[in-house]
Amino acid sequence: MALTGIQIYKLLPKTNCKECGYPTCMAFAMKLAAGQEDLSKCPYASDEAKEKLSAAAKPPMRAVTIVTNDHQLTTGAELVMYRHQKKFFNPAPLMVRVKDTASADDLNETVEEVGNYSVDRVGMTFTLDGFAVQNDSGDASTFASCVESVKSKTDMPLTLIATDPNSMSAALEKVGDSRPLIYAATKDNIDQMGQLAKKYSCPMVVKSSDGLDELAELSEKASGAGVEDIILDPGDRDLHNSLVSFTQVRRLALRKFEPFGYPIISFPGEGASSVEEEVNLAAQHIAKYANVIVMDSFSPAIAYNLLTLRLNVYTDPQAPIQLQSGIYQVGSPDEKSPLCITTNYALSYFAISGEVEATGRPSWILVVDTEGLSVLTAWSAGKFDADGIAAHIKQFDAADKVNHNSLILPGGVAILKGETEENLPDWKILVGPREAPGIGGYFRQNAQIWEG
Ligand code: SF4
Repeated sequence: MALTGIQIYKLLPKTNCKECGYPTCMAFAMKLAAGQEDLSKCPYASDEAKEKLSAAAKPPMRAVTIVTNDHQLTTGAELVMYRHQKKFFNPAPLMVRVKDTASADDLNETVEEVGNYSVDRVGMTFTLDGFAVQNDSGDASTFASCVESVKSKTDMPLTLIATDPNSMSAALEKVGDSRPLIYAATKDNIDQMGQLAKKYSCPMVVKSSDGLDELAELSEKASGAGVEDIILDPGDRDLHNSLVSFTQVRRLALRKFEPFGYPIISFPGEGASSVEEEVNLAAQHIAKYANVIVMDSFSPAIAYNLLTLRLNVYTDPQAPIQLQSGIYQVGSPDEKSPLCITTNYALSYFAISGEVEATGRPSWILVVDTEGLSVLTAWSAGKFDADGIAAHIKQFDAADKVNHNSLILPGGVAILKGETEENLPDWKILVGPREAPGIGGYFRQNAQIWEG
């Protein structure tokens, strides 16, 4: 169990020597209790203290890695219940399930389609994360052939789903040096599955069919048998029960209840009666608190929405996604092209650049450093003002880029027009639309500025 700050303090030397970097032993103890410091920073900690504090220093949730030749997928190692307390670290991998009863053509098509899916968003490229291959046939050699076939077509990490240890063993023989996730050890097969996990150095899921008490027992049994990388399946599938059990497991993990100090896996399709329900479940599990998600449905629309949600949930709330300030090109603009201005909050930039691109009119976008704040937030915080706009116009030689000296302000900050004109007397300050989707109409209505 975790120790409180006071309990930890009683184990420290209490000399306040400051060598750990903190002014008092109490301050250091509080940091240790929060899991934000390492006891090794105190050179005077006794052996007894080290032993007793090892639980406090240990991360509440283990990081588990699934490996293929070229990919390494790490999940878990989360430290908080709510992202605003710190942040979430390892975005939950999204895998797609394929079954060994599928025809070769269907299997190839799914693996190719999922493997090739990629989308650019806010300057980053997102893909799905792997495949879960299921022994639906119940036949060991069919399963092994299917796993071998999938592995020959993709380097993405794999989860192997089988209840029969013989099928699992046959499949593991086919994956070479990869370390797929074994799914799953249950009360009926945990001894054999645990032996396979150790033999092949693979992470392993323990799955409960009878609530969290059984899950804790299975987890303890697996770790007691020497399996270090464990993932938990509480067995609940529907919206309500999966929310309750996932939340309890995360909460207890953070309280250092060791049997639950591992990531959680979810199967949204198993709790859904339609694709829409599966996506709803997956969205819930991304937010609370799955660390690996196996989907039965795939389409670019589903993937895009879930990946976007995941990006938002796993973005550090104290460090918005930012761009470098500067002048960016949309298409191949020239001196007659429009010049827009926005802030360096990535979503602001990509919203406006996407809409500008859709107009087909090449343009310049001047990005002002507002420490990652969006337009209105930056304006209300005093970080997007006329002085800053003028400074960026000069710093990035905007006058050399265009011959019309017209600058389009976001409509939401029309109030800056007068002051910006005072700061930039050689420029004509225009007020653009309030929202990015209005840029197409705005360009059409004012086309004479850039075509005249
Ligand atoms: S180094 Fe150890 S003894 Fe010194 S202040 Fe820090 S915790 Fe206390």
